Amino acid sequence: MVEIDWSKLGFAYTPTRSHIRYHWKDGKWDAGALVQKDTIEMSIAAGCLHYGQEAFEGLKVFRQKDGKVVAFRPDRNAERMQRTAVRTVMPPVPTEMFLDALDRVVRDNIDYVPPYGTGCSMYVRPLLIGSGPQIGVAPAHEYDFLMMVMPMGDYYKGGIKPVRAIIFDEYDRAAPNGTGDIKIGGNYAASLYAHEKAHGMGFPVELYLDSATHTKVDEFATSNFVAIAKDGTYVTVDSRSVLPSVTNLSLQQLSRDLGHKVEVRTVPYEELGTFAEIGACGTAVVVTPVYEIVRGDTTIRVGSPDVCGPRLQELHDMLQDIQFGRAPDAHGWCHEIK
Ligand SMILES: *Cc1c(COP(=O)(O)O)cnc(C)c1O
Repeated sequence: MVEIDWSKLGFAYTPTRSHIRYHWKDGKWDAGALVQKDTIEMSIAAGCLHYGQEAFEGLKVFRQKDGKVVAFRPDRNAERMQRTAVRTVMPPVPTEMFLDALDRVVRDNIDYVPPYGTGCSMYVRPLLIGSGPQIGVAPAHEYDFLMMVMPMGDYYKGGIKPVRAIIFDEYDRAAPNGTGDIKIGGNYAASLYAHEKAHGMGFPVELYLDSATHTKVDEFATSNFVAIAKDGTYVTVDSRSVLPSVTNLSLQQLSRDLGHKVEVRTVPYEELGTFAEIGACGTAVVVTPVYEIVRGDTTIRVGSPDVCGPRLQELHDMLQDIQFGRAPDAHGWCHEIK
């Protein structure tokens, strides 16, 4: 049995018993194996190291009220990683293999899935890399797919805390016809400098406008932009530079279930001040309310700095109730680890 103080867990790397790793060579994936050592050996000329052939995913596993262990919509992450693989010329991981990897690695680390009631969950990080040597600019000839797991704390132990966001006009995250819609480390490398700068200035999140004109909202650095209009409509962004978030898709469905209108469309910068609620959504924390957006000398205020707006709070709670098995899984989103 592992000894973990679940109340002290944050969002950080914690070694577990094993990860699962598959190798691709000569046109096919091997059967994969659980690996105890959390290091990887590869050529110093590996394609991922030189030309950034790297894709990742992020999803969560929950121990539910009745003891079942489930992953939240892993098929969606598998499909997204397939799209990322095609765009970065890597061999896609079939959904069946992705789910097999998930089942095997979670089962081997089952005692690292936090108990129900702690608010904690297990974070799953799949990784796909070009590991074969490649010095001429071309796709690598060999690849590794791995899935690591780690227990993760309850981000909102003391309740959901609204944050301030900043818009930088001097940095962009994704080019208009670039790679903003796929999940690659390269996008993160490109935004890390601005991210650190924002942190240093006291802003936990940065909001990006479209790179071409800086007139329309794209998304936050690591999470989608969602808003609740004054008439109750759920509004989110339609842009080629936005990463399609599984959390956002799920919140859209829950909004429709509640009978609210959902709009996926262009969001002009000028509209920001008209919203009743704004949030940043993603797997790690579901939704982070944003109460203030600063751009140069302009400050846009939306909602209270102390409490989450009622609609985003409601959607957050609905999603967590499904994930922790407190509410019926009407859409079949939970994949049971057997
Ligand atoms: C991963 C990610 C998100 C959130 O996606 P989820 O599937 O909800 O976790 C949003 N934006 C970017 C840029 C991301 O990389």
